[in-house]
Amino acid sequence: MPKTVAILGATGSVGTQALDVVRASGYKLDYIAAGSDVDSAERYAREFSVRFVALADEGCAKVLKERLADTDITVLSGEDGITEGIRLSEAESFVNAITGMAGLAPTLEIIEKKARLCLANKESLVIAGDIVTSRARELGVEILPVDSEHSAIYQSLKAGKPTEVKKIILTASGGPFFSKTAAELSGVTPEDTLRHPTWKMGKKITVDSATLMNKAFEIIEAAHLFGLTEEKIEVVIHRESILHSAVEYVDNSIIGELSVPDMRSCIQYALDYPERKAAKIKPLDLVSLGKMSFFAPDTEAFPALNLAKRVLRAGGASGAVLNAADEVAVAAFLGGKIGFTDIARTVEATLDRLPEAKNMHTKEELYEADRKAREIALAIIQGEQN
Ligand code: MG
Repeated sequence: MPKTVAILGATGSVGTQALDVVRASGYKLDYIAAGSDVDSAERYAREFSVRFVALADEGCAKVLKERLADTDITVLSGEDGITEGIRLSEAESFVNAITGMAGLAPTLEIIEKKARLCLANKESLVIAGDIVTSRARELGVEILPVDSEHSAIYQSLKAGKPTEVKKIILTASGGPFFSKTAAELSGVTPEDTLRHPTWKMGKKITVDSATLMNKAFEIIEAAHLFGLTEEKIEVVIHRESILHSAVEYVDNSIIGELSVPDMRSCIQYALDYPERKAAKIKPLDLVSLGKMSFFAPDTEAFPALNLAKRVLRAGGASGAVLNAADEVAVAAFLGGKIGFTDIARTVEATLDRLPEAKNMHTKEELYEADRKAREIALAIIQGEQN
C-alpha cells in the first residue's frame, strides 16, 4: 500500500515541489489545500484524484465546487474548511506549506490528529514554537522540517546524542546583497531585491532572504525544533548553498549535509523518513563544484540576525511580534513607502514598544500580540513618512 499524504499550500512554490515529489514517489495524495488559485487547485485535484480539496477564499471555493461538480471530490471552504479537511483526510503525513500566520491553525490540527507533520510553514514555530513543540511532544507527533537548513540539521543530529552537540551551524546564502555595507543597502530598491540567486520563491520570502530576516526566522525555528538556546546556534554565510547546515559535536567533529540546492530533497526526506529512497534530484558533483566558501555574517548591515537572538532571549509572544512587524514592513517596502534598511529598523522599534510580549504565552495572547504589533509597525511607518 502506498503511503497517503496531504499537501497544504499546494499551489505555492514549496507545495508544487511537494506535488512533484508525490508524482515521482507514487504516494497517494488524499487532500490538497490552497488559498485562492482555482485553476491550479482544479488541475491538481483531477490529476491526483484527491478526495478533498480546500480553498481559504470562500468565493474561489464556490467556483471550484462548480468546476468539480462532475467528480466526487469534496470541496471545502475557508480557513475552517482547511482544518476540517485535516480531520477528514486519511493522510499519514501532512506537508504544511501554507505561508504566514494562516499556517498555525493547520499545524496545531495536524498535531491533534497525531499525523506526521512535514513543516514548511516557518511561522508556526516563529510565532508559537513553545505551544507547537510541547503539544507535539505530549502526543508523540513527529515534526519533520521542510526547510533545507533544518532538514540538514535533523539529518546531522543522527550522528550523535543531544548531549554531545556543541552547536549547530546554520548556513545562509547571504542573499543578493552579500558584502554590501549598511550605507549601500539604504539605497536598495524592491526591483533589486526580487532577484535572488539560488532559490525560486514568493515575494515576501525573497525580501526576507535579502534582509536575512528569513535566517532570523530560521534561528528561531531551529531553537524550537531542536531545543537549543541562542548561544548554540551560529550563522555562517555560505554562498554556494551546498552545505545546507551542520552540527558541531563536543569532539569538534562537524557533520553536515551536502546536496544541490533543491527543495524537493528535504520534502522527500520528510515524507520517506526513516527510509531513504532514490530521487530525481541531480546528484552533487564535488569535482565540478571545486570549492566552497564561508564568511562571518555582517550583523551591522543585516541586524535581523541579532533580532532573532533577542526574540529567543525574551520568549513569550516576541516571535509573533517579530513576524507581524516584518510582514507589515516588507509590504511597506514593496509598496515603495519605506527603504530597505527601514525594514529591520521598523521591526526593532516594534519590539521596543511591546516589551510585555515576553509575558504573553497562550494562543489567544499570541494572536493579540500579532494584532498589536501590526498596529504599532504601521504607526511607526506612517510616522516616518510625515
Ligand atoms: Mg531555508
